Order: sequence, then structure tokens, then C-alpha cells
Amino acid sequence: AKSNGRNGFEFFSADMREQAQARMQLLKDLRSAIELKQFELFYQPIVNLSDLHIHKAEGLIRWQHPEKGLISPIAFIPLAEETRQINALGQFVFGQALETLNDIKKLTSSEFQISVNVSPVQLSTLDSGIDDWPNMLKAAKLPASSIVAEITEGLMVNPEALTQTRLKTLVQSGMQLALDDFGTGYSSLAYLQEMDTDYLKIDKRFVDNITQGSQELALCEAIIVMAHQLGLKVIAEGIETELQMQLLLAAGCDYGQGYLFSKPLNKSRFMALLADKKMI
Ligand code: C2E
Ligand code: CA
Ligand code: CA
Ligand code: CA
Repeated sequence: AKSNGRNGFEFFSADMREQAQARMQLLKDLRSAIELKQFELFYQPIVNLSDLHIHKAEGLIRWQHPEKGLISPIAFIPLAEETRQINALGQFVFGQALETLNDIKKLTSSEFQISVNVSPVQLSTLDSGIDDWPNMLKAAKLPASSIVAEITEGLMVNPEALTQTRLKTLVQSGMQLALDDFGTGYSSLAYLQEMDTDYLKIDKRFVDNITQGSQELALCEAIIVMAHQLGLKVIAEGIETELQMQLLLAAGCDYGQGYLFSKPLNKSRFMALLADKKMI
């Protein structure tokens, strides 16, 4: 017999309870994940669109959970930010990037860049470790310009004084700066220049809908002209088709990143790609 006993509201609250429990468990697991070496940095090639060479890659974190399998950063980065564990995670990512850059040095004499995603939390927490980056680069005998810090628009719009100062110090040390997910928020062009940004990354959502004569293509063209006038190089994210690549190349885009070229790879597969195809 049908019962009104379990109405929508109860279902909803049971659901919420489950979600809250899952979140608590994830938070708990996150705490030990670094020590347990469950994190791994993957690398997605960034391709020079005019000659298809790979001189850059973006580091993307992966969490191999013993029971839940691979967990997307989209699921745990916000939690790590809330609990400030992103600071330790950020240091892990940076250390891995330095190691990999040194391994790449053995393959090629041309300069390679790895970009790392920097959370606003790392820049607003005093002891996040980010201020050590210039020294860590020196200790690793790597030029500061081999690291590109990817930051999001949010940081550019209304940064705290501390964030701004620290970012400037990093840039003055020679580290490069990329503005990630361009077009998804509100960007101040003045700030782009003020911060001496080197790269602008066009968000995947624009690239997704690029076709001949489309509004998205017109937008990309305008963004690229503007970026070049400001002295920035442009990287298009999420390129999945040959057509997208061709249209972006014709629009003057400098670099591309996306499944058309390669998915993010673990270190050994990434190193094999660089060595094998003589892509660098
Ligand atoms: P993001 O920085 O915008 O990174 C690009 C995302 O797009 C990556 O997702 C990448 O795998 C995905 N992607 C690249 N090309 C394609 C494509 O052609 N098609 C499709 N469908 N997707 C593509 P991922 O690795 O899941 O990372 C998601 C987000 O998590 C990143 O977005 C970034 O915001 C954050 N994240 C990842 N690693 C780190 C990290 O080490 N630190 C911080 N703070 N955030 C990170
Ligand atoms: Ca990024
Ligand atoms: Ca610069
Ligand atoms: Ca992005």
C-alpha cells in the first residue's frame, strides 16, 4: 500500500545527511592522503599551434583513493581549500613540477615550462610556502621562468593587498603568470597589465562552440587581438577537434591544450611522449 509516511521532505533530508557524511569522510581521508602518497601530478601537453611542438605542459593533480578510485580535483580542491590543506598540496605539486622539469632537462636543451594551478588560498595564507618558490627553483638549478603560475580571474578582480604583494614578488623573481579560464568571470584589463601577466588561457566553453562564423569565434579573435596588444600569449583550452584547432590557429592563437593533442598523462607516459615523438 502507498504510504505518505515517507514524503519528499524526508527523502531530501536523508539525502542531505548522506551527502554531509560523504563529505566528512572525504575530508578525513584528505588529511592523510598526502602522507599516504595518494596524490599524483599528471601533465597535459600545451602545443605550439604553428609547429605542434611541446614546450609546455600543465600540471593537474589526481587523487587515487584506495576505495573510491580516481577522484576528480573538482571534487576535492574546494574541500582542500576550506581546510587549507591546499597549501600542503600546492607545495607537493610545486615539488613534483621541479623534479619533472629537471628530468626534462636531460631530454632537451630548449627551455620547458610547467604551469601549476595556484589557489587564492595559497596566496592569502601567510605560511602556505609559496614565498619559498623562488628559493626552491634556485636550489633545483632551474630558471624561475620554467614555472608558470595559473591564477583565476577572481584573484585579478579584487585582490587583497597581501595577495597582490606576494604575487608581484613571485613575478619579480622571474616566474611567469597565466590568467586561467579567461572569459568566465569579470576581468580587469588594467590589472592584467599591472600584474605583468604572460599568458591568457581562453576557457574551454568558448572553444567548445567555435565554428566558422560563430559568435564564439568572433569573441576568440577579439580576445587574441587584445591579448597580443597587451603583450600576452594566448593558450586555448579544451581543443578537441581539428576544426577548432584550425580556426584558432587562423585567429592567431599561439598555443593549444586539449584532448585533440593529449589527455593529461601520468609522469612516465608524459616523459615517454616527449622522448618518443621528439616533440620538444
Ligand atoms: P583547469 O585549471 O581549468 O584545468 C583544465 C581542465 O580541463 C583539466 O581538468 C583538464 O583535464 C581538462 N581538459 C583539458 N583538455 C580537455 C579537453 O579537450 N576536453 C575536456 N573535456 N577536458 C579537458 P581536471 O584535471 O579535471 O582539473 C579540473 C580543475 O581542477 C582544474 O581546471 C583546476 O581548476 C583544478 N586543479 C587541478 N589540479 C590542481 C592543482 O594542482 N591545484 C589547484 N589549486 N587546482 C587544481
Ligand atoms: Ca589551469
Ligand atoms: Ca613576466
Ligand atoms: Ca582552465
